[in-house]
Amino acid sequence: MYVSMTDMLERASAGHYGVMAINCFNLESAYATIHAAEKANAPIIIDLLMEHLEKHIPREYVLPPVILMAKQAKVEVAINLDHGKSEDYVMDSIEAGFSSVMIDESEKPFRENVQITRRIVEVARQKGISVEAEVGNMGAVKGDHFTQADMYTDPDDAIRFIKRTGVTALALSFGSSHGVMPKDFVPVFDFDIVRKVKEATGIPLVLHGGSGCGADNIKKAIAAGISKVNVGSDVMKAQADAVYAQQQENRAIEYPDLMHGTLQPAMDMVTKYIEISGSAGKNLETM
Ligand SMILES: [Zn+2]
Repeated sequence: MYVSMTDMLERASAGHYGVMAINCFNLESAYATIHAAEKANAPIIIDLLMEHLEKHIPREYVLPPVILMAKQAKVEVAINLDHGKSEDYVMDSIEAGFSSVMIDESEKPFRENVQITRRIVEVARQKGISVEAEVGNMGAVKGDHFTQADMYTDPDDAIRFIKRTGVTALALSFGSSHGVMPKDFVPVFDFDIVRKVKEATGIPLVLHGGSGCGADNIKKAIAAGISKVNVGSDVMKAQADAVYAQQQENRAIEYPDLMHGTLQPAMDMVTKYIEISGSAGKNLETM
């Protein structure tokens, strides 16, 4: 069932669990993610990152087949544009058929972030499309650019932002970074930021960079008010590792077999995160 994020995240917020949002960029990753969600009877969000759509296969070719998969799925599936970094691209994505969009103008001054997000919300709301935005800055493991405390979301800014824009969900920076964490490194989260924004607004909040945070941090973040948990790198790493392992075993393996061999490892990783987030069995029709 193809839906927006609104209802699934409101239920997650009320039920104190998280919905997983998995970064997909091709048919294999979307297929594996939806299949894992169906097996777990979990609502799921397919996050299509704008950067991937620009760098790999364009939106116009990736989105329609993924929408078809969502429509035919036995569970609720939202397709969200992840980190939409241009107002035009986000507006076009609404027209293209996304059921949800993230406008990420978090690097712009607060006022501008509010104004652009509000324009997106006005258009999206009329079409029943959910909108995610971000306040504060997120670093990345890549380039050793980890999120630092001065990049964390100011809770008062986040509260004002939510009231002025009417977004469906807001991404907060409170300790996580995008990417695969170095081995045995567990980031320290400032859960008070999440609690404060949640208490003041009640809206679903989003954890980005869920890969490598550790189950404990994810569960505590959900208890503090996170309702959407983004994971990309760990699933992509599972797929890349599967490619490497298969080629180690048989250098002459044919490409279709190689791609097919990435499905199960991706499904296993998505299943693991569905269990951590507590969303197994939370699909609307099975409740
Ligand atoms: Zn992100």
